[in-house]
Amino acid sequence: MNILVLGKPGAGKGSVAEVIKERSNIIHLSTGEIFRKEIREATELGILAKSFIDKGNLVPDEITNEIIKNVLKKDPTKSYLFDGYPRTVNQAVFLKSALKDLGMSLDGVFDLEVEDSLVIERLTSRRVCKKCSMIYNTRNHNPKVEGVCDNCGGEIIQRDDDKIESIKERLVVYENQTKPLIEFYQNEGLLYKVDGSKDAIDCYYDIMEILNDK
Ligand code: ADP
Ligand code: ZN
Repeated sequence: MNILVLGKPGAGKGSVAEVIKERSNIIHLSTGEIFRKEIREATELGILAKSFIDKGNLVPDEITNEIIKNVLKKDPTKSYLFDGYPRTVNQAVFLKSALKDLGMSLDGVFDLEVEDSLVIERLTSRRVCKKCSMIYNTRNHNPKVEGVCDNCGGEIIQRDDDKIESIKERLVVYENQTKPLIEFYQNEGLLYKVDGSKDAIDCYYDIMEILNDK
């Protein structure tokens, strides 16, 4: 089973993905996470990606597409959860042909719908563990010890692109480049809408219900 979660930044893609991953045998493929790991390790790719990410821009398609294809090629028999990829129609077209080449296909695309105001509220209060990427929130999900990850003891920080200027830019980028994917996947007959204002666990139940009814 291969599924894809779509939505604005802050729609809850990462949080829903964490729930799905805990409960099933699926590989979580987050391009954002892949880039952040490269940045932490200060690789050539990381340094290049950071120059786009901190401004709220997308990393160029050719780079992102290549990364995904290389991951899928290694094991096309596994199940994948795509989170944050594709983000442009060009990437979606690429993914379609890459999956086809590998004898794979998508079972469903879930669009987590949320208002901009909620996105801004969620992202400005979001904090992440520098080491294991666990997500926290200053409003309703603080670690037991301030600044220290419950899961791994790592340092909890705010992402550079979760500052208000970057968030606004990311929302503009979403409108222009990512939103057209909704129509793309509607035409493919794969799109399902989910209320992204709900808690991640409830979004997970909604997604499972849709998959079971198929
Ligand atoms: P969010 O969904 O909260 O914006 P992500 O972790 O998915 O966060 O992505 C963070 C940043 O990484 C994006 O703003 C973008 O710059 C870059 N990025 C992630 N995925 C892609 C992609 N598929 N194509 C281009 N850039 C990407
Ligand atoms: Zn951690």
